[in-house]
Formats: sequence, C-alpha cells, structure tokens
Amino acid sequence: MKYKRILLKLSGEALMGSKTTNIDPAVLEQYCEEIKLVKEQGVELAIVIGGGNIFRGGQAETLGIDRVQGDYMGMLATVINAMALQGALERHGVYTRLMAGIKMEQVCEPFIRRRAIRHLEKGRIVIFGAGIGNPYFTTDSTASLRAIEIQAEVVLKGTRVDGVYTKDPLKHPDAVRYTSLSFQEAYEKNLNIMDMTAFTLCMENKLPIIVFDMNKKGNLVHIAKGEEAGTLIS
Ligand code: UDP
Repeated sequence: MKYKRILLKLSGEALMGSKTTNIDPAVLEQYCEEIKLVKEQGVELAIVIGGGNIFRGGQAETLGIDRVQGDYMGMLATVINAMALQGALERHGVYTRLMAGIKMEQVCEPFIRRRAIRHLEKGRIVIFGAGIGNPYFTTDSTASLRAIEIQAEVVLKGTRVDGVYTKDPLKHPDAVRYTSLSFQEAYEKNLNIMDMTAFTLCMENKLPIIVFDMNKKGNLVHIAKGEEAGTLIS
C-alpha cells in the first residue's frame, strides 16, 4: 500500500444515487464494500461525509431562514449520513467511531484530535460528522482540516466523475482528464476542485488531493496502492 493513513471525502449528494430519497441503499452498500477492501489492507482510514442529499446551507435563504441557521442544519444533515454509513459499515463487521464537530453525546463522540488518532491506530475507521462545527464552511474544508490534523498523507475526494477535466465532461464530450496537476496549475486554471478554503488548506500544507470515481468498483483500493486513477493534485 502506498498510503498508510488516508482521509476519504464522500459527498452527500452521491449517496442519493439514482433514488429520489435521501440515501440509496445500493450506494451505501457499494461504499461499504470499497471501504472494507481498503481497511483489510491495513490502511488507516478517516472519512468525512457531506450532507448535500439532505440539506445545504445555501438553501436556507429560499426558505426564509438565515444562512447561519441553514449551515447548522447542513451540519446536522452530515450527521445523518455519517450515522447511516457507520451503521452500514458495522453490518460489514468494520469497527468505526463517529466523531462530531458539534456535541451530540447520545450519538457520537466529540472531536478530540489525539483520540481520533488513537482510534485510527487501533484499526477503527473514524467518521467525522457535523463538519468542523462552524457555519460558512463546507465538508470539503472539513476534509482538508481534519486530514492535516490527523496527519493523513492524502485527501481522496470520491465523486461521480473519474477525475478533473479540462472542462465539464458532462457538457463537453471533448473534455480531457488530467492525470496530475500542481496546486498552482489547478488554481490558475480555476478548476474548482474544492472550495477555496479547502483547496488553500491543502496547498499551504502540501497535502495532496486525489479526485476519483467512487462508483467504480475497486477504485479506492487501487488508489490506496498508489496505482494511477483519477487526478492527483500535489
Ligand atoms: N457545513 C457547515 N460547516 C461545516 C461543514 C458543513 O456550515 O464545517 C454546512 C454547509 O451549509 C453545507 C452543508 O453543511 O452546505 C452540507 O455540507 P456540504 O454541502 O459540504 O455537503 P456535500 O456537498 O459534500 O454533500
């Protein structure tokens, strides 16, 4: 395995899969299988999951709710996804701990950096819920920050596309995928890999990002081995 400690970022929206309900059981199942494969190879894995399938802070204004309130709602949405993932992983016999950026004693532990590292060392998968616990951030910024804090070697951003393209591959059939990019190039080309806060955190801390297709079977384990897939930004 190339990487010993990984931070995996999964989007909430992808959890919806082909369903109109919030969580598609098939997607959840597939995530668990991929995660289990990597875990079995002895990789330490922390996961940040988004909440876009349930609620995004940006939606608040359309409901006449202020942004900050909406962001907290978004953070709680990530906890629902995190709990679903935790439950599903446990059914697969994988040990997990859920740590949240907002105190919720009955369902998860508070985020304590040293404790998170200890869980990883003991072979548990740590899921970070409720983002960093502050409004005006995203789960991408959570992924970057937590990855730095737990000294992960890489942030793996699982998406529905197999990497970063010259232009939107869904709209432009002639779009070309980058296999690797420097942070500087990604910034100059305005490729929107993550929001600026998340991206800058990675760049300033020399933390590589790999954007890859989480829906492709075996992809996560390929990447953990260091095999070429997706786009590496370093
Ligand atoms: N959020 C926040 N602070 C955080 C993380 C998340 O305020 O540290 C809120 C924000 O409103 C965001 C929502 O939670 O829109 C859901 O997360 P995100 O949109 O990042 O989920 P994804 O797009 O990955 O599904």
